[in-house]
Amino acid sequence: MPTFNRADLAFERGEGAWLYTADQRRFLDFGAGIAVNALGHGHPHLVRTIADQAARVMHVSNLYRIPQAETLAQRLVDVSFADSVFFCNSGAEANEGMVKMVRRAQARSGHPERTRLICFNGAFHGRTLGMLAATGNPAYLDGFGAPLEGFDHVPLNNMNAVRAAITAETAGIMLEPIQGESGIKPAEARFLRELRAACDEFGLFLAFDEVQTGMGRTGRMFAYEWSGVTPDVMTLAKGIGGGFPLGAILATEAVAQHLTPGSHGSTFGGNPLACAAGNAVMDVLTGEGFLAHVCTVSEALAGMLEQLVARHPGVFAERRGVGLLTGLKCVVPVAQVQAAAAHEGLLCVTAGDNVLRLVPPLVVTEAECAEAVAMLDRAAQALSAAAEAQKEAAL
Ligand SMILES: *Cc1c(COP(=O)(O)O)cnc(C)c1O
Repeated sequence: MPTFNRADLAFERGEGAWLYTADQRRFLDFGAGIAVNALGHGHPHLVRTIADQAARVMHVSNLYRIPQAETLAQRLVDVSFADSVFFCNSGAEANEGMVKMVRRAQARSGHPERTRLICFNGAFHGRTLGMLAATGNPAYLDGFGAPLEGFDHVPLNNMNAVRAAITAETAGIMLEPIQGESGIKPAEARFLRELRAACDEFGLFLAFDEVQTGMGRTGRMFAYEWSGVTPDVMTLAKGIGGGFPLGAILATEAVAQHLTPGSHGSTFGGNPLACAAGNAVMDVLTGEGFLAHVCTVSEALAGMLEQLVARHPGVFAERRGVGLLTGLKCVVPVAQVQAAAAHEGLLCVTAGDNVLRLVPPLVVTEAECAEAVAMLDRAAQALSAAAEAQKEAAL
């Protein structure tokens, strides 16, 4: 179905941060499958782990113990605020489960009336019926009937608006620590601290959607670590399987204790193959110096991008983001910049607010970042030259 405007490109293989077409054209991949391929393409440890696990056993269902899932859950608990983990298959599915958990924990703690979540303008939580309502973007809701009840939207980084929106029916507050799809917009650390305080004051649960920001993307294992604010429940997906579909919900015991047998489930979620992939990703992310590498490379990239923006004020307005979750706010339509970059051999993703999203694999090198910026430089020159030519033709 034509749900995506696809570029006329198909890739035959990938290696690290590079993708190759069948006719041997090569592209530097700063889209990484929309912030998914954390280890890049063809990472030997991930590839071998998946192949070995596929040969042994792929799927058994959650009717049996799954050692790969137990190990991965324990590792996620060890590096986070959480006490337990639920595995599923995608970001939207994880967020659905997170909302269910918040509602259920309130209901079973004597507050069945607390069913509503405060969400934020510019949020993106996925495409299921429930998460469309949590996202609240009218363009995504169009034609799909009445949005699911229970989500109240307020502006990001505005604590007065949050406090005004809290009612006797509020169960929790749900947000991305850095809004991704809507244009790489960070929630301020102070705002997150104030949300935590408000949740504690009113008995609400703080729910972080780290589907895009989690798993090392910002240079910490989880973006919440930059603020020091811990949630009660959090979702992961995108990078967690390194390209294999996997999602997770992490929760404190206060939330998780209410998820009794039969209260939630998934057929595929947490299967041996997906969790083997997740463990292979964890092996790399928790390896000596890996997150420090992400910080070092991303600081270098940020510096180069600042200079790029300064060189091309007619194309770029500003650089945004944390770690390797980077955005370039564009002056000209972002689709033109994306196409010009692809013409130079650089793949990027767009985001809302006319932002070009640069989310390379976390294994990207400083030299590759320099190559990417050189390509963006040439793309910007081409766009400026085309704009000049158009102006002259109009005279
Ligand atoms: C991508 C994304 C989702 C949706 O994930 P899917 O796997 O496409 O369902 C949800 N939340 C955030 C923050 C995302 O970036």
